[in-house]
Amino acid sequence: MSPLTPNDNIEAEAVAKNLAELRERISAAEQRYARRPGSVTLVAVSKTQPASAVLAAYHAGQRDFGESYLQEALDKQARLTGYDITWHFIGSLQANKTRQIARHFAWVHSVDRLKIAQRLNEQRPPELPPLNVCLQVNIGSEQQKAGVELTQLSILAEQLSKLPRLRLRGLMALPPPSADFEEQRSFFRQLRLAYEQLQSRTYPLDTLSMGMSTDLEAAIAEGATMIRIGSALFGERPRKR
Ligand SMILES: *Cc1c(COP(=O)(O)O)cnc(C)c1O
Repeated sequence: MSPLTPNDNIEAEAVAKNLAELRERISAAEQRYARRPGSVTLVAVSKTQPASAVLAAYHAGQRDFGESYLQEALDKQARLTGYDITWHFIGSLQANKTRQIARHFAWVHSVDRLKIAQRLNEQRPPELPPLNVCLQVNIGSEQQKAGVELTQLSILAEQLSKLPRLRLRGLMALPPPSADFEEQRSFFRQLRLAYEQLQSRTYPLDTLSMGMSTDLEAAIAEGATMIRIGSALFGERPRKR
């Protein structure tokens, strides 16, 4: 890492302040919705942010980071070797990227088809523990969106649970944006019900990855165990890469 510049210091202060506020929001929501304190893990979504921003959050105690774009993530990871960071891949998955993802991430939240799961399973290096995986569900059945349909979910879970180098941890969703709290909740509720249904079929799931900067309270109300937060921590992202 290059030495910190005055700009980085300003950025670091802002990130630390945002992180403190986020932790307040999370614990307030845990309390309000009768969730066990500390039962919601914050994944800091650092896509499009520089390594210095990751480091600022790290120094304020953050350890889990989420990335969506493989090359950008690999560059950042190379600059941050030696730090105790758990990397989560949350972006769209293409077959030609699975080898690097299987090697450089501890979690993948966006698995939505068998072929990709099989590749990750085959390509997970033997010296690493099994790759933690969430199945992404297309909860609003949006045409343009990734994710397995609810009707196909149990088949995919069944297939995935047989792959020894993957550990099926739970479900992830990115519901249609809504400003209405009850509507946000109703999407998250659908994911929770699907999750509970799989659990009742003896899958040992422990992860509901749902909730972002603008809907984390609704997600926590419906049982989120991991929330993925970008802009509320690092500020608004540049519009489009
Ligand atoms: C970008 C992104 C997030 C974070 O979104 P914010 O609104 O910035 O909190 C969460 N999950 C996924 C899958 C993303 O791509």
